[in-house]
Amino acid sequence: MDITELSNKILNRDRRALARAITLVESQRADHRAQAEHLLSELAKHHRQALRIGLSGTPGVGKSTFIESFGLMLTAQGLRVAVLAVDPSSARSGGSILGDKTRMERLARDPNAFIRPSPSQTHLGGVARRSREAVALCEAADYDVVLIETVGVGQSETVVAEISDLFLLLLAPAGGDELQGVKRGIMEIADVILVNKADGDLKPAATRTCADYSGALRLLRKRPQDPPGFPKAMMVSALEDRGLALAWEELQQLNTWRCEQGHWSRRRAEQARYWFAQEVRQTLLARLDTPQARARMIDLANSVANGDQSATTAAQQMLADLDSD
Ligand code: GDP
Repeated sequence: MDITELSNKILNRDRRALARAITLVESQRADHRAQAEHLLSELAKHHRQALRIGLSGTPGVGKSTFIESFGLMLTAQGLRVAVLAVDPSSARSGGSILGDKTRMERLARDPNAFIRPSPSQTHLGGVARRSREAVALCEAADYDVVLIETVGVGQSETVVAEISDLFLLLLAPAGGDELQGVKRGIMEIADVILVNKADGDLKPAATRTCADYSGALRLLRKRPQDPPGFPKAMMVSALEDRGLALAWEELQQLNTWRCEQGHWSRRRAEQARYWFAQEVRQTLLARLDTPQARARMIDLANSVANGDQSATTAAQQMLADLDSD
């Protein structure tokens, strides 16, 4: 593969080249990895940046409906929008929703939009790197907004929050007791909570839910990256296209404030530090994940269990063995 040519095409906003590049960063092959790193470092020289918006919500809450309406609203304003999904396969039950290519058909046909479903069978570490690199590729391809979607399960929100500038949590209208169901951790990373389906018969329940969450958000610890009034809860109807323009205004206001106050660049710097540390950890762990290393671990574990060696001595032995491999 000619990396210079691929790089030029991406910089010229070629969507097929972008799709190929994402396939390349998803590959586990050593030669592909080397090419991917070459490509990413070429593209990084151009310093193109998009607004990265993370979006989480349980299946059925209306994520795809929201992304389609929101994405079409942005492209109608002349913005270019990329949509990526973070969907660790371990979190899937009975077929992927995020991988379904028939979702967001209208947005997918829009020449100013790019939609990439999540790859299958990647462990969370792989998902994190792939997602981060896919975001960088979309930025290089000159998208203004990158939406990064995840199902509201487990660790994938952390991955998305550590890639995003802004984090949205989509909720459905429910009774007041539902509040307990949303994990505190995810409330703490949300910048804006959108209560979707605020239409028809669901409107009164949405109003209550929104009030409940507004109250809950006020009780959270104040974060330095929040201007007065944030984080906030708002009502939208993705289906009827209501409240989306207002939500976009709020997001822009928040982002502008963070840029002016230096929070935006600080956050990106912190994220870079975080990903560096993660890469180091994962690379070290990968060294333990070879047949020889696994066999050696078992031998040493047996010797510790038998009382022949202390755990500390055996661990030092293991690390020495890894270094001499
Ligand atoms: P996802 O699984 O989170 O991606 O959810 P979908 O976007 O597939 O939506 C799940 C269901 O909720 C579908 O039947 C949608 O038509 C419906 N839905 C999505 N947004 C709204 C909304 O704003 N109002 C109403 N009434 N239904 C909605």
